[in-house]
Amino acid sequence: MKGKVFLVGSGPGGRSLLTLRAQQVLEEADVILYDQLPGEEILASLPEGAEKVDCGKFGGQHTLEQDEIERLMVTRALEGKKVVRLKGGDPFLFGRGGEELEALREHGIPVELVPGVTSAIAVPGAVGIPVTHRKYASTVTILTGHEDPGKEGSAIDWENLAGNRGTLVILMGVRNLAAIAENLVTHGRDPGTPVAIIERGMRPDQRVTTGTLATIEGVAQERRVRPPAVIVIGDVVRLYREGEPGLVPPS
Ligand code: SAH
Repeated sequence: MKGKVFLVGSGPGGRSLLTLRAQQVLEEADVILYDQLPGEEILASLPEGAEKVDCGKFGGQHTLEQDEIERLMVTRALEGKKVVRLKGGDPFLFGRGGEELEALREHGIPVELVPGVTSAIAVPGAVGIPVTHRKYASTVTILTGHEDPGKEGSAIDWENLAGNRGTLVILMGVRNLAAIAENLVTHGRDPGTPVAIIERGMRPDQRVTTGTLATIEGVAQERRVRPPAVIVIGDVVRLYREGEPGLVPPS
């Protein structure tokens, strides 16, 4: 008897941003393998009865290695269990959800995707920055800042990104912020391009830091900006109005 694995996105913030399907499969789970990114509120509310495994992924620190996570998911599913793999945001955006899907498929295990609200769009939105806008940007590119832009054979085409006038949304980019900004400017993007960094978006301690490609590294250092944070680069950032009413946090 084969069980089933649910690849579940928790959304960017608290419980109110979980989908109904996510809540339902969490309640019915035998096993929950979770990352730290879903945040305290959601992790504290996981059902008592389920076996809970902290996979500990947060800003590159892992408690379990990826192959151990995959092995555990497969083992429990083969025992006939309902397994939830809970990840921040949407499971298929930079969460290695794709690799987990492949591992499960290899073992013929049924998998259900429960999509989540991705931080890449919701977090800028929550502070009044739509990632597209007829006047400012018709395209949006979501990239990982995890990779050092200076490294040889980078998988990211920085020249192309610098020449692109659309919005750039960077996840996992705090540590490499200086190199990212410098690289974009070196490849021709205007140093005056506005940048916003939103730390812990849609959570009670959300914080926004703004600057330009030329200044953002200095400001971020001064304010000790830390992950998890979403970096938005482009003219849509001009729509951000500090302290102005209009958008209120979910209650
Ligand atoms: N699958 C996730 C992204 C995983 S990568 C999603 O769809 O949102 C992890 C990165 O996501 C973090 O380093 C950070 O850049 C971003 N992130 C996720 N949730 C966030 C939040 N609430 N506030 C700010 N950044 C967040």
